[in-house]
Amino acid sequence: MAPVAMRSVAKSLSEAKPVSYWLDDPGRPDPQPALTSDEKCDLLVIGAGYSGLWTALLAKERDPGRDVVLIESKEAGWAASGRNGGFCAASLTHGFANGLARWPGELAKLEELGARNLDAIEEAVARYGIDCDFERTGEIDVATEPHQVEELRELHEEARRLGLADGSEWLEGEALRAEVNSPTFLAGLWDREGVAMLNPAKLAWGLKRACLEQGVRIYENTRGLKMARAGAGMTVETPYGTILARRVALGTNIFPSLVKRVRPFTVPVYDYALMTEPLTVEQLASVGWKNRPGLGDSANQFHYFRITKDNRILWGGYDAIYPYRGKLDSEYDHRPETYLKLAEHFFTAFPQLEGVRFSHAWGGAIDTCSRFSAFFGTAHSGRVAYAAGYTGLGVGATRFGADVMLDLLDGLSTERTRLEMVKSKPMPFPPEPLAWTGIALTKWSLARADARGGHRNLWLRTLDRLGLGFDS
Ligand SMILES: Cc1cc2nc3c(=O)[nH]c(=O)nc-3n(C[C@H](O)[C@H](O)[C@H](O)COP(=O)(O)OP(=O)(O)OC[C@H]3O[C@@H](n4cnc5c(N)ncnc54)[C@H](O)[C@@H]3O)c2cc1C
Repeated sequence: MAPVAMRSVAKSLSEAKPVSYWLDDPGRPDPQPALTSDEKCDLLVIGAGYSGLWTALLAKERDPGRDVVLIESKEAGWAASGRNGGFCAASLTHGFANGLARWPGELAKLEELGARNLDAIEEAVARYGIDCDFERTGEIDVATEPHQVEELRELHEEARRLGLADGSEWLEGEALRAEVNSPTFLAGLWDREGVAMLNPAKLAWGLKRACLEQGVRIYENTRGLKMARAGAGMTVETPYGTILARRVALGTNIFPSLVKRVRPFTVPVYDYALMTEPLTVEQLASVGWKNRPGLGDSANQFHYFRITKDNRILWGGYDAIYPYRGKLDSEYDHRPETYLKLAEHFFTAFPQLEGVRFSHAWGGAIDTCSRFSAFFGTAHSGRVAYAAGYTGLGVGATRFGADVMLDLLDGLSTERTRLEMVKSKPMPFPPEPLAWTGIALTKWSLARADARGGHRNLWLRTLDRLGLGFDS
């Protein structure tokens, strides 16, 4: 393939606004006022990303009489929930392969619960009239190297053997390129049912509206500072007032958990995305994309890409940046060297789009845990529940996590709480400098494996045996 000219690649970024395309929307709702007095409630939810918003909404759906308060340090959906790719997947396990490796015995159940969860999201979007461009188009995993074709085929065979391949379709060469035309695509596996595409920020804002309509009291620009036991409940201090709550649900993702012992289970990994300007009719015709699925390639350092309602292309992934000591800082939200790399890869995948410009470029922190899929738990004798560690696949799974938190807070034994996945925890990350060194070695090894036909070195094979890893 002809190498892309780096000067024209750089030019494509010249007008890219350094802000999430989804959040750069005149329809962004005004924040709810901050809490400026003391409050009391049955359930306090902390964090207004999808995790907290679904928890508050489902709590009201389960029991409309429950008094629910939701607090958010900044504005609903400003963090990962307003910056992601908008791939809303049924998978609760960060994909079939990860689920198969970790919970082979309950994978069928996890897949069934995940499919039901995605159906429930679709149903809620319709019922609450959430205008978030929800399209159940599925996702195609594409192979761009011969060894990836074999790996993808083996995965499809395994899913078929387990009776879990319904709705998936194998596409080879021309048939794949007839769907989405890239000279780099060799084969693809289309999961037609298990993924929907949506506008992430509009989902968060729609959930916020639905919460308010159901009577949830939301306070934005209100950070939960400290949490302590008080009688049979908990108190949470915020800058201008204290909240007394019978139960607390933490949907705080990668931000420092108010339950300290949860912190070592996750590290922040910064992931980046570009958005093009809307394609012209001719440009769109040159790529096809009539059925509008999302796509992801199959390398360790993978890209995800999709088309928006107004025919822009979002192109993200590849670099996964871990800041030393897991420092969270808005400085990491932008990384021009990653944007340049992403743009170069974009024009390699779609050379026919030469001349297209990017309108937005941004990044955000992912809550990576060593098993790449969420973990759950309680603290303070069951008064507090948490769910975190979604590792880059939380758009759909956070709704499932919200249900798990509510089950745990209500002391219920359900098909969710009985799962091994829900009862077990990932391996925590070690302190620095070990975490940084281990992650750097893993990233180096993954890049090398991609360059060497997928061959995993001793370090990666050891991590595989221990069930540990690093992903975004
Ligand atoms: C660039 C990028 C691309 C991604 N792409 C995809 C994708 O395509 N598909 C997918 O499934 N997933 C994707 N993800 C992951 C997905 O976005 C997350 O898993 C999901 O949004 C997590 O939701 P959340 O509510 O747990 O976290 P967040 O959206 O981060 O929300 C947590 C909220 O808690 C608030 N908070 C934290 N601490 C406190 C406190 N003490 N007091 C008050 N409020 C607090 C924060 O301010 C924040 O608003 C991506 C993530 C990124 C960054």
